Amino acid sequence: MTSTLNGTVALVTGASSGIGAATARQLAGLGASVALVARRRDRLEALASEIEKAGGTARAIEADITDRAQAQAAVDETVERFGQLDILVNNAGLMLLGPVVGGDPEEWNRMIAINVQGLLHATHAALPHLLKAAEDSPRRVADIVNISSIAGRVAWSGYGVYNLTKFGVNGFTESLRQEVTQRHVRVGVLEPGGVDTELGSHNKPEVRSQMIDPFYERTEVLAPEDIADGVAYMVTRPGRASVAQLCIMPSDQA
Ligand code: NDP
Repeated sequence: MTSTLNGTVALVTGASSGIGAATARQLAGLGASVALVARRRDRLEALASEIEKAGGTARAIEADITDRAQAQAAVDETVERFGQLDILVNNAGLMLLGPVVGGDPEEWNRMIAINVQGLLHATHAALPHLLKAAEDSPRRVADIVNISSIAGRVAWSGYGVYNLTKFGVNGFTESLRQEVTQRHVRVGVLEPGGVDTELGSHNKPEVRSQMIDPFYERTEVLAPEDIADGVAYMVTRPGRASVAQLCIMPSDQA
């Protein structure tokens, strides 16, 4: 195990399952102290003890980051506990598929609330600390990794509002990258293809059986660890190198 993140502090949103949990494990294994943020406290506490037992440092922070005050409180608690913030992984998200015609606006609002507003809330709260870390930490660089999706660069029928949120994340990421990169906060987007997580399980049964299950049955999808490896790659580059975009696809997904 290398220790290239020793002395750093990372906050991972959506750390209670899937890509976020794998990323938190990976960053902790590289030496970062990790703040685990999501709503399911039991899952976060189990992961925190697993990380601590393996010799790492982690803190479970229950928060619904669609609420700006809770996102701010999660960042505040991280900095109070660990003294700084070097890495933000905006991973929490929701994918509810289906046609726009006759679609459910409540589902659209839930997706926009977490995929867009949750990411903005966490970013806004974290940026002052990231800018400070980039200026005065030994590493002299800080990172934001936004977990978007291949659906942030390619649109498909039935993915309309999810596409809307992830295309938005991609545009916001590049704009923020240009704004802060010369202050040494690296901002990059990671776009996964299909990954074996709980993401599809939140859909209505008819959407699962028509749009999600057939894809997973015919495709050997990625493991969450494949995406965690990508995050680790992005945040362990030398300070002069910023990975602005990284797309990781299953070999089996055309
Ligand atoms: P999961 O459903 O396993 O994880 C989603 C995470 O988001 C959970 O930890 C959940 O925790 C958290 N979350 C949801 N709502 C909130 C909220 N309001 N406040 C705080 N945390 C919240 O799916 P994945 O791991 O697959 O998803 C992670 C990211 O990867 C998402 O942004 C997704 O769009 C993206 N992605 C996934 C792909 C895939 O195929 N799986 C492909 C491309 C992109 P809790 O419920 O405890 O709050």
